[in-house]
Amino acid sequence: MICHAFTVRCFKRLERWADRITGAAGPFFIAFACAGIFTGLFAFQDVVAATLRWKLLSWPICLLVAANMVMHYWWACTVPPGFVGEDERPLSIRTGRYFDVTPATITTCSKCLSQRPERAHHCRICNRCVLKYDHHCPVRINACVGIHNERHFILFMTYFVLACGIFAVNGFDGVLLALGASYVYTGMDPWPYRIPQIAFILIYVLAAVLSLAVLSMLSYHLWMVMHAETSVESQDFHIYRKVAKRRGETFTNSYDLGKIRNLELFFNVGKGGYPYYTLLLPMRIPPYTDGRSWARRPGYRQHGGVREGEELTDDDGQDA
Ligand SMILES: [Zn+2]
Ligand SMILES: [Zn+2]
Repeated sequence: MICHAFTVRCFKRLERWADRITGAAGPFFIAFACAGIFTGLFAFQDVVAATLRWKLLSWPICLLVAANMVMHYWWACTVPPGFVGEDERPLSIRTGRYFDVTPATITTCSKCLSQRPERAHHCRICNRCVLKYDHHCPVRINACVGIHNERHFILFMTYFVLACGIFAVNGFDGVLLALGASYVYTGMDPWPYRIPQIAFILIYVLAAVLSLAVLSMLSYHLWMVMHAETSVESQDFHIYRKVAKRRGETFTNSYDLGKIRNLELFFNVGKGGYPYYTLLLPMRIPPYTDGRSWARRPGYRQHGGVREGEELTDDDGQDA
């Protein structure tokens, strides 16, 4: 027993240190990400853009992808995620008009004592409760992902993958030229561009690797969005499913309105929301709810298969 308590205490201390280091390292990650993104854009414009075919079509697409990537990154980093009691916004006109939302149940956070609605969780790094808390992302945006910036976070990843993919496909000739192995450009200055060869090769490799890495993370996040779960809920629901199964019941996620509708609600497009084309433009679109009420499956006011007192809290070991 004593040994167990000691291990838990050590683990908690370790966790606090990790949080402190993560919090402190955040700005460096951001600086690295910004440097990478802008070097990539420069390399593309310098070396690859001139070789693109169907310029009338390819240039507007590339510009749109780049603008979306930069702006959604900026918003994901700078729009407050939705701290409970602080940056809460009233429902917009386009919100909650065409479908029913049920008020969220309110609980008290054991750490910051805020009165928070369901889906809000305490972030250890920000030391505050965040509405529809997903996770704290130190590496990409150095902030919490919550109700007000989750859309920008997902769209940034989407456009980042697209941008890296376009670069990786169209920049291959440039890499051959930089390596001095191209026979296509004989008679030309061997490297007529402003960016140094080594920098171009490095940024190309980085783009190719990151496009695959971020694509896998993006797929996972979109899978969760389609199932109307946040990262925290994904873990909680896994436990609820087991508990319900042991009783011979099935767990039902009451936020789950079907894959397409879940995606629409997340991005606040489609019926009752903004037009679909807003997904293609660098725009700030508010969430469909203020984080204090949620759209639910017809007939549900809470999840099915979970009894009162079985709900997990932030103290039950989840990453919150
Ligand atoms: Zn809290
Ligand atoms: Zn946080």
